Amino acid sequence: MDLKEHQGKKIFKKYEIPVPSGKVINQGDDLTVKIFEELGVDELVLKAQIPFGKRGKSGGILFVTREDFVEKAKSLLNKTIQGFKVEQLWVEEKLDIEKEYYLSTTLSRTDKSYMLVFSSAGGVDIEEISEQHPDKIIKIALKADWQKQFAQECLDQGLSQKVVTHLVKISEKLHQLSRNDVMLAEINPLILTKQNKLIAADSKVTLDANALFRHKEYQEKVKSGDGLEEEAKVKDLAYVQLDGDVGVIGNGAGLVMCALDTLAHFGGQPANFLDIGGGADADKMTEAMKIVLKNPSCKALFINIFGGITKCDEVAKGIVQAVKKVGIKVPMTVRLVGTNEKQGQAIMEQNNIEYYQDMEIAAKKAIKSAKESK
Ligand code: GDP
Ligand code: MN
Repeated sequence: MDLKEHQGKKIFKKYEIPVPSGKVINQGDDLTVKIFEELGVDELVLKAQIPFGKRGKSGGILFVTREDFVEKAKSLLNKTIQGFKVEQLWVEEKLDIEKEYYLSTTLSRTDKSYMLVFSSAGGVDIEEISEQHPDKIIKIALKADWQKQFAQECLDQGLSQKVVTHLVKISEKLHQLSRNDVMLAEINPLILTKQNKLIAADSKVTLDANALFRHKEYQEKVKSGDGLEEEAKVKDLAYVQLDGDVGVIGNGAGLVMCALDTLAHFGGQPANFLDIGGGADADKMTEAMKIVLKNPSCKALFINIFGGITKCDEVAKGIVQAVKKVGIKVPMTVRLVGTNEKQGQAIMEQNNIEYYQDMEIAAKKAIKSAKESK
């Protein structure tokens, strides 16, 4: 789960990584130039708090003075950038940039350690840096005595001793905070100001979604599905809450995982998933649909059945029952093959419910309809 920039910066601040002073503004808040006095500055940066990483290039970052603050803040709060409605701004002091660096820590499962990545050519995406300046990337596993090696490589890249000392300190802090269920902590750009100070001008912090129960303050998204796992368990169904928009139902853990991978492969994001297990009857299928649809972030339903012990006609009956009795308010895509598929497909046809035999086609359709029904 990606935190918003200002949430990430709050964590940075807690760990003594320097960040610009700033304030959150929500849609509907009073827009007053008092904020310049509050922050003690004459120039500010307005930053759209959206989960999209290239705001600078897409109009999500604006520089303002007292004269145009209100007008520009209003216009930014009315904007939609890359499909994301801007509902919140982070407003912060404008820095005098001398240089832009890139610094991040990521959890590397293959190296069984955190990796530190630094580049003196920051400001743009790490992908772009790797393409344009592969020689300017320093990558170090955060294992015993990494500081020395890191400092030396930075000095070799021409950074001053003073900057390097500070950089090592910031990296240590980043490492420290990463141990708190953080998969990625990225500062891009890490700015070297004209006053020769390092300040984190942006933040990207990704928390391990499986550890969210330890981070209640970020759970707004997940809250919507609270209690559903317990409810499913009582009915002998396995439900898992995720944070995308496609609800997934399948029979068998392996098939469900496969559905999730296929969705991800085509750019979709599961809102949750539910495994009806083997041999589920019509009522169980209806229950499964009810539970998955209770999650309000579920904008489309993807049912993926490959019948073995589970019979397609029972599943089809369950779907029909749900459509008739529960009412399905989001678009539904069904893939239905396997044991008793002829009977199952016939039931679907009699009730005018579309179905697919190919999982990939069905997955793509589900992703598309989730986007459209938002
Ligand atoms: P992103 O494009 O979504 O990654 O947003 P960033 O917060 O990284 O900002 C994009 C770019 O705007 C940075 O790389 C800087 O060049 C510029 N920028 C951001 N904050 C400041 C600031 O305080 N002062 C100046 N001069 N430029 C800034
Ligand atoms: Mn950035």
